[in-house]
Amino acid sequence: MLTVEEAQQALLAEVSLIESEEVALTETHGRILREDVVAATDVPLADNSAMDGYAIRAEDSGPRRVIGEVRAGSVASMRVEAGTAMRIMTGAPVPEGADAVAQIEITDRGEDVVEIHESVKRGANIRRRGEDMRAGDLVLSSGTFIGPGELGVLATARRARAVVARRPVVAVLSTGDELVDAGEHVAAGRVVNSNVHTLSALVRDCGAIARPQSIVRDSREATIAAIEQALACDYVISSGGVSVGAYDFVKDALEALGGETKFWRVAMKPGKPVFLSRVRERLFFGLPGNPVSCMVTFTLFVAPALRKAMGASGVLPPVVNLTTTAPLRGSERRTYVRVRVFARGGELLAEPMRAQSSGATTSMSGANGLAVVQPGVREIEAGTVVPVILMGPI
Ligand code: AMP
Ligand code: MG
Repeated sequence: MLTVEEAQQALLAEVSLIESEEVALTETHGRILREDVVAATDVPLADNSAMDGYAIRAEDSGPRRVIGEVRAGSVASMRVEAGTAMRIMTGAPVPEGADAVAQIEITDRGEDVVEIHESVKRGANIRRRGEDMRAGDLVLSSGTFIGPGELGVLATARRARAVVARRPVVAVLSTGDELVDAGEHVAAGRVVNSNVHTLSALVRDCGAIARPQSIVRDSREATIAAIEQALACDYVISSGGVSVGAYDFVKDALEALGGETKFWRVAMKPGKPVFLSRVRERLFFGLPGNPVSCMVTFTLFVAPALRKAMGASGVLPPVVNLTTTAPLRGSERRTYVRVRVFARGGELLAEPMRAQSSGATTSMSGANGLAVVQPGVREIEAGTVVPVILMGPI
């Protein structure tokens, strides 16, 4: 059986880069940049004022004659000569001749003549040309995730459009004779298909497009037909049907479709039966049916694959060392314990979720981390520092 790390390596070696596309600036939000962005000009283009006040010559002393005003968005038509000052607003270009700005709070706010009560150093309150970016600077590299800050940089670099990764389209299959759609009558023995919703949301959180498919019944033919149809998408993920049960047909179906098994079963708990196949140029992820196993294996395998496909820099989820607030139970396999990472007293802590059964959807609600317990370790005491894989916002 492969370790999680071996399985991740085997998987990432199979993932190729998806095409890129050029989109309008607003559309880049949440996407992976696929070009290096270089500043075309200095920003700001000219020295400008960081304060509302008076543009002055630092070496002058005594009252200064106010010769005019310069507002943000305009350029002064006059020079600031010795003994003079010009009223200036934040963001306005510093007029020629001036070498400092006295903020309004240290002046008498004079209209014709201004008195400045404190000495002002040369260069004070001036934002220099090129302070934000210099022409030719690399301001964003390919592989960067575009969030609000990066959108601001793109706009400042005057990019009305940018090249980003195309969003991979991911088919989400759910297998199981017991499954019913949410909202339908649930007779005894039936189970609501929660995985399709969880997995589709996880796909969207990765920046990809989810294509939920209708429930696949547990027969070889139905499974083959459903997978064949789903292969129209870039990636296919399924839940359920990968164990050793008499009605687990996913692996058989992949074999019938000419798939090449990359791995089946990984030394982990939950999630052991996870399965990866390459079939007709596509990657097929067979995730176990248990709702928790499904989320854990998505986090450890599918999410990194999608990030790699989009060209993201850093594809594996981050791991941090955190103190656990309660005991963690391990097993003979590497165990991933769902935890809630939260801040208390300026420190991040990991609190294991009360329900830890891999069948319990509620054990994932509120969980944003997976504490890692090494194989053979039965229990880790409260107060111990443990590695935690971050899955979501804190
Ligand atoms: P399987 O991997 O098919 O043996 O399923 C393992 C367990 O997960 C069973 O108890 C299933 O009822 C449950 N399960 C399978 N698929 C889903 C699903 N789509 N939503 C919720 N539970 C599921
Ligand atoms: Mg099943």
